[in-house]
Amino acid sequence: MLIGQETLVLSKSTSKSPSELVKLVCEKIRLSCKLETGELPLHEPSFESNEWKYVKDCIDSGWVSSVGKYVNAFEDKLCEVTGSKRAIAVSNGTSALHMAFRLAGVLPGDEVLVPSITFVATANAISYTQAIPHFVDSSKTSLGVCPIKLKLWLEKSTKRKKDSLINAETGRRIAALVVVHVLGHSADLDAISEICKEYQIKLIEDAAEALGTYYKGRHVGNDGLISCLSFNGNKTVTTGGGGAILTNDDTIGDIAKHITTTAKVPHAWHFFHDQLGFNYRMPNLNAALGLAQLEILPEYLNRKSQLAQNYEKAFFEVDGVQFFMPPSNTKSNNWLNALMLQDGLLEPLLDYSHKHKIFTRPLWTPMHELPMYSLCPKQNLENAQWLFRNLITLPSGPKLGRASVQNG
Ligand SMILES: *Cc1c(COP(=O)(O)O)cnc(C)c1O
Repeated sequence: MLIGQETLVLSKSTSKSPSELVKLVCEKIRLSCKLETGELPLHEPSFESNEWKYVKDCIDSGWVSSVGKYVNAFEDKLCEVTGSKRAIAVSNGTSALHMAFRLAGVLPGDEVLVPSITFVATANAISYTQAIPHFVDSSKTSLGVCPIKLKLWLEKSTKRKKDSLINAETGRRIAALVVVHVLGHSADLDAISEICKEYQIKLIEDAAEALGTYYKGRHVGNDGLISCLSFNGNKTVTTGGGGAILTNDDTIGDIAKHITTTAKVPHAWHFFHDQLGFNYRMPNLNAALGLAQLEILPEYLNRKSQLAQNYEKAFFEVDGVQFFMPPSNTKSNNWLNALMLQDGLLEPLLDYSHKHKIFTRPLWTPMHELPMYSLCPKQNLENAQWLFRNLITLPSGPKLGRASVQNG
């Protein structure tokens, strides 16, 4: 069954028992991945490009650390791929987010709107600036922030005071909204940007999972004032560990580069730092790996699209499960494929699939259910809760789904 509407239909009573259904789903996963036996990791990296050559070049030349040509080459290539004016490579996606909130002027005691359905790094980075996460709900259509619920919530629970938007209940300033492109699928950027304009909230994009994803023909990461990418080992492109700050604002780009390199004023021998800086720069060694990975990105995106099509076909007529398809005005990088399941199927499916070496996963525990965030302000989060109970992610790495390359 296809989905594409806010209310999705999963038949309540299927002809199959839950245990038969779980078995069938696992068979179809193996069929889609074209791997009958052996381990099916969730997202394993693959090194088939110039990785060895570039990394060896770093070692041979001695330029392995915070200076070297690969950092610049990697940043230039990121600009080319994303269409962003500036890209600043950093040590990981979390540090990119930390800098994004700082650069956007988020201050201690502010609130930042953030979906409860995200990886913990998004909320943590808000906390690193001593601001407070304020959780909003997600859409079952895009998996990102639900613009309809967001607007109603802002209407009801905020007021304006001079230049600021204030949470009427807590009295704190709402400084920014961060959207997350969950599993590589774009959030509804037009609707969300419009709300941010109307309410004068700064928009940040957590595009950690979404390199190669487009919304209405433009690469994600260009609507926000500042956006972030991650190159962790499980992402579509990896540098081992790494991240990037994207922006189309040159001033922000200059400051981003400056404060991620300890805010040192360039000089041949003097160490003078003109503000609080961070040692968040990406080492040359990691950038070398990343440059090679970016060169093969188009090939990986093709393969991931093919795998998504395999899954779509395999699950088309299975009652009780729906293959998640993002809205048709977006083009996903298909980072992690996912199924929406009828109630009660998630736990048995996780259990059975792991016993059979298919390393599926549920979504992250919603942020508002984590101990350190349980008292944060939030709207009604019923979609987030539904998604956590009913969505499962499927093996999706670039080696899977091709008949010719069994066992990668
Ligand atoms: C991976 C990820 C991050 C953090 O990236 P790291 O490089 O692991 O620090 C942030 N947000 C989301 C949504 C992610 O998936």
